Amino acid sequence: MKLRTVLFFFYVIQIGFTLTMKYFSFEGDTSSELRERILKYFTEEDILKGIEYSRSGFFASVLSDLIDFVVAGIFVFTPASVRLEEKISEKTGGRFYITVLLFFFAFSAVQFLLSIPFQYYFGFVLEHRFGFSKMTFAEWLIYTGKSLGLGIVGGGLGVLCVAFILKKFENAWRFLVPIASLVLGLLFSVLFPILITPLFYDYKPIGEGSLKNKINALCETAKIRVENVYVIDESRYSGHTNAYFTGWGESRKIFLYDTLIQNHTEDEIISVLGHEIGHWTHDHQVKDIALDALETILLCFFLGYLFVKFKKEGSVPLKELYSPSTLPFLFLLLSLFGSLTRPAWSAISRFQETQADAEALVLTGDKKSFIGTEVKLAKDNRSRLNPHRAEVIYYHSHPTTLERIEFAERWKK
Ligand SMILES: [Zn+2]
Repeated sequence: MKLRTVLFFFYVIQIGFTLTMKYFSFEGDTSSELRERILKYFTEEDILKGIEYSRSGFFASVLSDLIDFVVAGIFVFTPASVRLEEKISEKTGGRFYITVLLFFFAFSAVQFLLSIPFQYYFGFVLEHRFGFSKMTFAEWLIYTGKSLGLGIVGGGLGVLCVAFILKKFENAWRFLVPIASLVLGLLFSVLFPILITPLFYDYKPIGEGSLKNKINALCETAKIRVENVYVIDESRYSGHTNAYFTGWGESRKIFLYDTLIQNHTEDEIISVLGHEIGHWTHDHQVKDIALDALETILLCFFLGYLFVKFKKEGSVPLKELYSPSTLPFLFLLLSLFGSLTRPAWSAISRFQETQADAEALVLTGDKKSFIGTEVKLAKDNRSRLNPHRAEVIYYHSHPTTLERIEFAERWKK
């Protein structure tokens, strides 16, 4: 069988699989046994609110996925990609890096233009309908524009870097691309709070008072040093709540959303931070980076092997590995590969989240605030309380709210 046929087969399977999962997530888990367990902590109304929010925009999201698949398919299975590269190359006089950049922009522009109505519908219309978004239309436009600008700059630099390595190092690229992505990833995690966060938020050090004292005491118990604790003004955008750490070693900072401070008790905030500290003490970030690098190396060998096979067969229009027109082909392979490894990544992430939950319980010894936080977060964010098992296993990075609550209930000092 031709490789092109095999690829097309997997492509169709992926479409079918994605739509099936969409259906599962729409349905959720309707067992009465689960419902009983949820009702120990939530009301019937909470369950319904979660269902309503998660089902909103169902058909739009199916349509959006289908459009993405069709665009990807056109670029890979027809000569569209090669023709586009030739057109651009004519205009740039064959200058390689400018051609790469312009091709990337054109390819992204097609996807972006098609996604505008969906971004507006999901990010603005629905978020307002459910009372999450506080942005005016102009503010939303600015926010979306900034995100787009960052995506263009970041994506453009990444593509140029990969194109350079692929062109210059015919064999060593299989190692150099993972190394480059590792270095860029680390650089990004250091620069993010310094360069990106201020583009979207104002933040200031947390004021003196009992919350700050409790945070300091928590860090002392956990034997960690933090440069400072900042409050970040998420409330200008939405009612969603969050807290996170950034930076490395001594320069680590804690960021708390002001919405978290407004809606939660101090002990609940400490519980949330205990969880974040758990990620830190278990070195989850370092482990994830190492795993990611390993996956990237395997992926590069795999992609390199497949590219040679496909090119030899000649059934899919391909130029060189470093040609910009090869980009959509590589993206499709990456997305197929990602579909296969996704459940493993989700399982690892859920395992780490449970470890971090355990650490929060050990550090605070406060089961009540832990459960209180979970209940409040689920209510405030209209979480789906009865997600379908298949959806949880395949996509979810966190255990379900109920699983986390029951974990805490079982936990003993
Ligand atoms: Zn976590």
